[in-house]
Formats: sequence, structure tokens, C-alpha cells
Amino acid sequence: MRPLLLLAILICFHCVLRKGFCSSEQDKVLSITAVTQEQVILLQNISSHNETTLWQPASPSYITENTPVHLFVQSSSVTRVTELLNTHRFSFSVLLENTQQLIQEQTRNITTDPKSGGMTYERYHSLEDIYYLINKTSQEHPDMTKLILIGSSFEKNPLYLLKLSGRRGPVDKAMWMDCGIHAREWISPAFCLWFIKYAVIFYKENPDITAMLDKMDIYILPVMNPDGYKYTWTTNRMWRKNRSVREGTSCVGVDLNRNFDANWCTAGASSNPCSDIYCGQYPESEPEVQAVTKFLRAHKDSIKLYFSMHSYSQMLLFPYSYTHDQIPNHSELFDLVKEAAVKIRRHYKNVYHFGSGAKTIYLAPGGSDDWAYDQGILYSFTFELQDRGRYGFLLPPNLISVACNEALAAVKIISMRVLEKLHE
Ligand SMILES: [Zn+2]
Repeated sequence: MRPLLLLAILICFHCVLRKGFCSSEQDKVLSITAVTQEQVILLQNISSHNETTLWQPASPSYITENTPVHLFVQSSSVTRVTELLNTHRFSFSVLLENTQQLIQEQTRNITTDPKSGGMTYERYHSLEDIYYLINKTSQEHPDMTKLILIGSSFEKNPLYLLKLSGRRGPVDKAMWMDCGIHAREWISPAFCLWFIKYAVIFYKENPDITAMLDKMDIYILPVMNPDGYKYTWTTNRMWRKNRSVREGTSCVGVDLNRNFDANWCTAGASSNPCSDIYCGQYPESEPEVQAVTKFLRAHKDSIKLYFSMHSYSQMLLFPYSYTHDQIPNHSELFDLVKEAAVKIRRHYKNVYHFGSGAKTIYLAPGGSDDWAYDQGILYSFTFELQDRGRYGFLLPPNLISVACNEALAAVKIISMRVLEKLHE
């Protein structure tokens, strides 16, 4: 009996310790499903509260019945929110128990010198480190790369584009890829860096990337929203928009992926500056969007392919997002993303949904891919990278390589098919 008694005392002591020292709640992410219209409205109210941040969907207005909502809840509000959910008989579970720990894991290398090399691309990088890395790449590969300054952000951070080319003469085709429109989607800039590294290492080694670089120039914008990205490293990991301020409101930031001139600020965007899907004062009001549209307009005759990288939810999307109408080459683009999704599933065992934006997620006007498409870039895509909600925006560094490799496989297969079509 004695060992059992001792065990009971130890368990009890452990409980007291937990109550005494661990009772303060931690920041959490909850998965909540509303099943009635009444619950939908309640959940919209809860998720509009300051101490919560919606992970999925991007705005309370998108919340519908029977679709799980991923909600980040600050420690101080965990008890109140869970009590509310219980009172109103919501079905919910804890998706992430302790987000602070995951954030620490993601930023652990913050002081590590990127010059040390090693696993550089299997971790997340601060804005300064990203600038350092792309600058270093351009210096080490002057025959394949060119660093181009296309503008600056609201807070005057530079918007650097890296142009990648094969070792050959000029060509008349190009591809564009941007990452980091939304600040908290850290896997996105990580992917742009991954792609750059892959291109310079495997040119003349891998036939696909060699063909891509021999036939096209590839323009890569690793961080389209540097101010927001910086803010997620210093102040609020859950920030989505840029950091522009305007008179008449204390709310900061515009959703850059609602600021393009593509059915701007219609259903699926918000004119409220406090909203996470705020469209801005007018189309292209934001300097980050102005810089990108200016460059794309100037190069639209050569740019045949457009990619925009986001996370999370594992989707391969194409226009339109601003209307349910189909684009003229819908079936062509549908076949491309389908082939890419099948390839990812076969090689990486991961499921990616695919289709037009409006039909696959929800209406989202003012987006970059729709705008690019309407400019005449007929192969225009938005990718939502890993994962499907297990870690959401807090994808641990040890998952970066798989997330990037599968996205790379998709970019390669689509690019190769498009190059074949253009040469027909
Ligand atoms: Zn996004």
C-alpha cells in the first residue's frame, strides 16, 4: 500500500503545484464550429474582440455555419471566451495549447548570425537577415542574379526584387513570384528564399529549373510587406496587414491583398480601417502595392506567369476571387493546379485543394492574382502553403523543408507546362 499512498501524495502535490504555479492561462488557438445562425453571430462578435485574432477565416464576416473557425485568444481572455462558448453550447477544441512556446521556437535564431550558414533555409529570418541573404546571393552569383529596388514601404523599408536568369542572352519571357503580402504568413518569405537558393544551386543540375531559367527571367519579391513582417517579429506575431496610418482613425494597416484595382472593395473586403481585410482609401493607395503594380505594368508584355505565396490551408488557386464568374481559360488553369496537387499528393502525401479563388475559399476582391490576370498575365496563381490548421501561422521550423519542397514541385510543374504551351 505504501508505494500507492506515496504516488497519490505525489500526484496531489503535482496538482497543487500546477494550480499554484501554472494556473495562469497561456495564449491559445481554439477551433470552434458554429452550427446555428445564432452561434454564427455570437462567434462573429467574440472574434471581433480586441483580445482575439481570427486565423481562419480572415474576417468575422466570412464565418458561416459548420465551418471550423480558428481563433487565437490572448491569455487574459481564455477563461472568459471558453466560458462564453460553453454557455452557448459551442462545439470547440484547443488547437494550440501554448502559442508562446511555438513563437519562441520560431525566433530562437534571432541572434544567430546568418553568415554562419548551416541550416539557413530551414529556419525563419528577420527582415534584416532576409535583406542580408538576398544581397549575399546576388553578390555570390552575379552571372545569374540582379538585385532591383522597386520602391519602398510606408515606413520606408526597401522593396527588393531579385531577378534570376540562366547564363544566356536576353529572353522575352518572365515569371513573377511575390511572398509575404500578409505579415504573419512566415512560411511564405521562407519559400521565396528557398526558391532562390534552389535556383542558384540546381541550375544546370535539375532539368526543370534549368529550363525555367534558360527560357524565362524570374522576378522574386521575398517580402512584399516588410513593415508588417518586421512588426510580427517585434510586437505582434498575429499581424496581417501593412503598417500604414491615416488621419481620422487609430487603426493601423491596409490588407495589401485587398488594395489592388480588381473590383476593389466590393463584397469580401471591408471599408472599416480596423478590419483585417480593410481595402484602403482607394485602389493602390499603399506604396507596397504601387511599387508592385508599377513594375508589373512596365513588364507585362514579358511576364507570362504570376505566383503569389500565402499560408495557410494548402490550396492552389487561380482567378477569379472577386467574382464567381469563370475566367476564359478556367479549364486550362484548373488542369494545371490539379496536376500540381496530384504531384504533391503522390510525392509528399499532402492534400492540396485547388480551383478558382471565389469557389474554393470565398469572395475576395482587390487581390493581386486577379489584378495580374486582368492585366493580361493569363497564368496567374495564388498558393496557400502548409499547413491545414495543425500549427497554422506558427508552422515549426522543422516543417519548413517539406512545405517548401512541395510548393516548389507545384511551381515547377506549372511553369514547365506553361513554357510548353507558350512554345506550341
Ligand atoms: Zn495571405
